[in-house]
Amino acid sequence: MTQDAQPPLDPARHALFLDFDGTFVDFAPEPDAIALRPGARERLDALARRFGGALALVTGRRIANLDGHLAPLRLPTAGLHGQESRFTGDDAVSFRPTSPQMDEARGRVGDALGPGDPIALEDKGGALVLHFRKAPEEAERARAIGRAAVAGLDDLHAQSGHAIVEIRQRGIGKADAVRLFAERPPFAGRVPVFVGDDTTDEDGFRAAAELGGFGVKVGQGESAARYRLADVSAVHDWLERTARQEP
Ligand SMILES: [Mg+2]
Repeated sequence: MTQDAQPPLDPARHALFLDFDGTFVDFAPEPDAIALRPGARERLDALARRFGGALALVTGRRIANLDGHLAPLRLPTAGLHGQESRFTGDDAVSFRPTSPQMDEARGRVGDALGPGDPIALEDKGGALVLHFRKAPEEAERARAIGRAAVAGLDDLHAQSGHAIVEIRQRGIGKADAVRLFAERPPFAGRVPVFVGDDTTDEDGFRAAAELGGFGVKVGQGESAARYRLADVSAVHDWLERTARQEP
């Protein structure tokens, strides 16, 4: 991995796939307590134009939730790690069906969490997230609850991320999101660049590389990405430079 060099970014040639939490915004104690940096919305809008529309957000959030944080801006977005897709800001959201096994997992998680539990459950419909950012000592218990919730349920898996354990459907991931977008204009024919900070983004890095592009890992840790940026601030500096380039 290249540690020092700024990743290349060419709005005429690249398609940009951006994770949101931990990449474009800093984590907050609660998912909806995030705050966009000053000018962040305008920077994203300017970038999307520079890329001829070939900029997609690829997030674990639901698209409707992300739209709420970015309003009035609406961009091409993959939500719930690719279970939801919207190929342009004007399209309706298409949704891949959720396995009925999610209901079983939901029941098990509900049974495992007590009243006032320090582990918070976020029910995204197509995915369940156990949050322990405010109670890091609960990490191991959250992972155990995740494992137990999917035991014997072949359609589902539990994946650990930054202060979360997420119960999700197998066969849906950020790699699929990259491939789906890459088939469609204005993404088709461009070289994909995937930027993300977490476990689920590794899929996106690999898919971008398979399509001739590369990944940019935000923060520490092992990664399949070719480049690295230190933190959310470094991402904004990098994007701002590109947004301001003379066409
Ligand atoms: Mg992230």
